Amino acid sequence: MIHIILFGPPGCGKGTQAKFIKNQFGFVHLSTGIMFRKHIEKKTSIGKKVSYYINRGKLVPDLITTNIFIEEMKKCFHYKGIIYDGYPRTEKQILSLEKTLKYFSLGKINIIFHFKIQKEVIIYRLLNRGKTSFRKDDININTVEKRIEEYNKKTSLIWKNQKWKNHLVEIKANYSIKEISIFVEKKILNFVKNK
Ligand code: ADP
Repeated sequence: MIHIILFGPPGCGKGTQAKFIKNQFGFVHLSTGIMFRKHIEKKTSIGKKVSYYINRGKLVPDLITTNIFIEEMKKCFHYKGIIYDGYPRTEKQILSLEKTLKYFSLGKINIIFHFKIQKEVIIYRLLNRGKTSFRKDDININTVEKRIEEYNKKTSLIWKNQKWKNHLVEIKANYSIKEISIFVEKKILNFVKNK
């Protein structure tokens, strides 16, 4: 099984590329953001808990996040690959994911696509997205700023350990969707070929 992580600040284009990889390779797309929003929509008790954090632009605590994520992941072991969109976002989440992969003998984290983008572009994109998606956390400039702050503080350095060096692939996220998807596809094909 192949494990592909999409990593980068909010609004960097992770979700868009995840959909592309899913269609191109038939891998399953797991997004914690989507999982949380489904819970909120259905007004589950988890939905109530997580909306507190999401509406404030804060990360949801690791325990809640990992529990939900692993439960969903367990339904996907029959796929050839998993695309991780928005998880892991903390070092603890990396450890939980590694433990799960080991426990179920699913292989290891293979590629980590790191989307790089300037803050001004993120803010512009998120506020624009909010106009059509009506995501509360995209409409409000304070929430957007808080999410970027959370990313810089808690997420941006989680792959700094030398052991990830050869797995990281940098993406200039201000390139067009098409250009990025061609780049991403090449990298994945290359990996599959050399496996
Ligand atoms: P974006 O990447 O644009 O912020 P997401 O849909 O990935 O959007 O996430 C929305 C919100 O869900 C985040 O701001 C955060 O509150 C919460 N969230 C998503 N993934 C995680 C995670 N792995 N750990 C903690 N909180 C998360």
